[in-house]
Amino acid sequence: MTEPLLSVRNLQKRFDVKGGLLRRTIGQVHAVSGVSFDLAPGETLGLVGESGCGKSTTGRLILRLIEPTDGEVWFEGRNVTALDHNQLGTLRRDLQIIFQDPFASLNPRMTVGAIIAEALIIHGLAKTRQEREDRVVELLETVGLNADHMRRFPHEFSGGQRQRIGIARALAVSPKLVVCDEPVSALDVSIQAQVVNLLEDLQEKFGLTYLFIAHDLSVVEHISDRVAVMYLGRVVEIASSRDLYDTPLHPYTEALLSAVPIPDPTVKRTRIRLQGDVPNPINPPSGCHFHTRCPIAKSDPCSTRVPELRQARDGHWVACHLRG
Ligand code: SF4
Repeated sequence: MTEPLLSVRNLQKRFDVKGGLLRRTIGQVHAVSGVSFDLAPGETLGLVGESGCGKSTTGRLILRLIEPTDGEVWFEGRNVTALDHNQLGTLRRDLQIIFQDPFASLNPRMTVGAIIAEALIIHGLAKTRQEREDRVVELLETVGLNADHMRRFPHEFSGGQRQRIGIARALAVSPKLVVCDEPVSALDVSIQAQVVNLLEDLQEKFGLTYLFIAHDLSVVEHISDRVAVMYLGRVVEIASSRDLYDTPLHPYTEALLSAVPIPDPTVKRTRIRLQGDVPNPINPPSGCHFHTRCPIAKSDPCSTRVPELRQARDGHWVACHLRG
């Protein structure tokens, strides 16, 4: 692997849980527990897992939209977690995010032109009004919209168009890394592929690096070079896209993959139905967090020891006592 653009090291986030009349801290949610990975320039890493597994929190921690409890994030050799407010402001040009909900993430009282121009103003990227307008039009055209759209308001657009506006806003500052936080989850299936294709085209055109967060392995299959699977705050498997889809090692990855539809009707796949729900992250299971639902778990060591993420094959890492 070339020198990473982004390195995440032992990232942790615990949120206090308040309760009672006096709103005292009665527990902690272990949202992210020791997540580590690298991201090479121009690479797309898919980050996948069920709702509440910590994947979106990981994306926000990387951008420092929320503060980590522990661990480090390195971007181009700078320790993002140690930057002060001013230094962070400069870095925000390089690190952008596209949010899941294109309905909630755009200010309904601002025109599309003003929404996109805001980033240009904050970062001093267009000196005159004309320069700003020209850049906004250029960005709208880049994402498949046009100049007429800049004077309209977000509610006048479809979900797919709104997500394109969100993408144009992220691109306005010419970022290097974009965290795509479930960018197609709120869209109709027919529109999802269009937005994913657009993101792929933009990556090629601008040399972007993506952390692409999704709850469904089928969404990240084509766009990702590598995929990391998360369960209850931990990365349980990480591998090249091909390796992970062809020869998954972790039983949780196998279960997620078994739910992915296969376009070829002659190929049969047996659905693995996991027992029970995802455990409460305030009180996660001992040992391997997955042992309460794992079809091949053994009480010892699965419920007594935390499996380390270790390299089973070249570039294929898994956290399981019995696999790899
Ligand atoms: Fe299942 Fe045990 Fe592996 Fe965890 S460590 S995934 S419980 S076999």
